[in-house]
Amino acid sequence: MRLDAVGLHLSSGDGTIERHWPFAELRAVAPPRTGAPLRLTCATDADARLRLSDAVFAASLRQQAPQLFQTGLARPNVRRNAGIIVLLLLLLALFLWQGLPRLTAPIARLIPLAWEQDIGLAFRTRLLGGARICEGKAGAAALSRLTGRLGAATALPPTLSVVIVDRGMVNAFALPGGHIVIFRGLLAKAKSADEVAAVLAHEIGHVAQRHPTQMALRVMGIGMLGELLSGDGSGLAELAGEIGGTLLLLSYSRDMERQADAYGQDLLRRADLSTNAMARFFARLRGAKKSAERNALTGYFSSHPPLGERIAATDKDEGGQPALDAEAWRDLQAICN
Ligand SMILES: [Zn+2]
Repeated sequence: MRLDAVGLHLSSGDGTIERHWPFAELRAVAPPRTGAPLRLTCATDADARLRLSDAVFAASLRQQAPQLFQTGLARPNVRRNAGIIVLLLLLLALFLWQGLPRLTAPIARLIPLAWEQDIGLAFRTRLLGGARICEGKAGAAALSRLTGRLGAATALPPTLSVVIVDRGMVNAFALPGGHIVIFRGLLAKAKSADEVAAVLAHEIGHVAQRHPTQMALRVMGIGMLGELLSGDGSGLAELAGEIGGTLLLLSYSRDMERQADAYGQDLLRRADLSTNAMARFFARLRGAKKSAERNALTGYFSSHPPLGERIAATDKDEGGQPALDAEAWRDLQAICN
């Protein structure tokens, strides 16, 4: 028995046994124990057994084939399977105990970022239908400057993907994986880039706390759980596309809105932007007199209760640099032209 560069060479000397077991194909028949002989086989020679009691030889083998000497949970397959089983049992227990809605926050944190991004994109495609994404060159540059400024002030793992959509509604929303959609109507009603920055900061607050993913979990439910535990995530985007608009019918809880406000305010402060632009925007919309105008205006804000409390919460201090200079702000407002 000897080791060469690629494996273990076995020879009986009289020519009746001549075997070569590559290191990668070696398997331990039983978990190795200190002081006990090592029992080995080879994946390509599965009926054969080798009993190895020479500790020095075992030590040199260990350098070439360390996987043989990992025990119990250290072996990747065992660790992964055990992890999945424990997770499944925990989720099942929690599910029976609390029901799905209470679980969405912890589960959302388990979803890999790449899946979230795919899900977000599928939702966006579905939700926007035929609506055009505005790509005016100067406007896009202004938008990316604004997004970059806020993005730089946050330690978010998802990269933000913000688009302006050519629709008159005064609305904006965040989707899983850092996708944020702002409607042209919101740009038109905003009096300054600071107000758009405030809405954007609020939506980034939802992203940072994974609220959109929690909502997606709520509508995708068990299908998403199953995919999470067993799949590679490829089915999720498809599921998201099928469910589509249901996501927008749900609204965030007041707690989620407060969290997004708090995060948004903090983000604006860190980016050295005005922290009371949001309050100004809200106050103006609340002051909209005619009910028809009000309906057209409040798409975003009706899904963001309670307004009075939020105006107070966001109207704390002034200050900060303008989010964009006058020219870039005009460019942004004209992005759909
Ligand atoms: Zn919100």
